[in-house]
Amino acid sequence: MHEASIALSLLEKVIEECINNGCSIIKSVKIEIGRASGVMPDALSFVFNAIKADTIASSASLYINEKMLTAMCNKCHKEFSTEENYIFECPHCNSNSFNILSGKELNIIELEVE
Ligand SMILES: [Zn+2]
Repeated sequence: MHEASIALSLLEKVIEECINNGCSIIKSVKIEIGRASGVMPDALSFVFNAIKADTIASSASLYINEKMLTAMCNKCHKEFSTEENYIFECPHCNSNSFNILSGKELNIIELEVE
C-alpha cells in the first residue's frame, strides 16, 4: 500500500522535527494533501494511527486538509480548479494543454509539540 510508506516517512519527519526543536511529545500534526497526489486521506490516517504507537507521536492527532486541483490553461491563460482528482481539459476553452499549479503536494503545515 502506497500510503504505508508515506505515513512512515511523515512520522519520521515529524519526530525528527520535534526532537530538533527540543520537544518530546507530538500533540498534533496538520498536513495538506492535493487531490491529485494519489494519496487516500482515510488510508493515510489509518496507517499513521497504527504506526504511531510506541513513538513520541503516540497521542498525536492527524488532521488532513484536502487541496483542490488547480491548473492554468496554456491556450486561454485562465486559471481553473476542480473537485475531481483529474483534469482532462480547460473548462473555458476545452484545450487539453495546461499546467498543474497545485493538487499534487503533500505538506506538513502545522506541528503541535510539547
Ligand atoms: Zn483554456
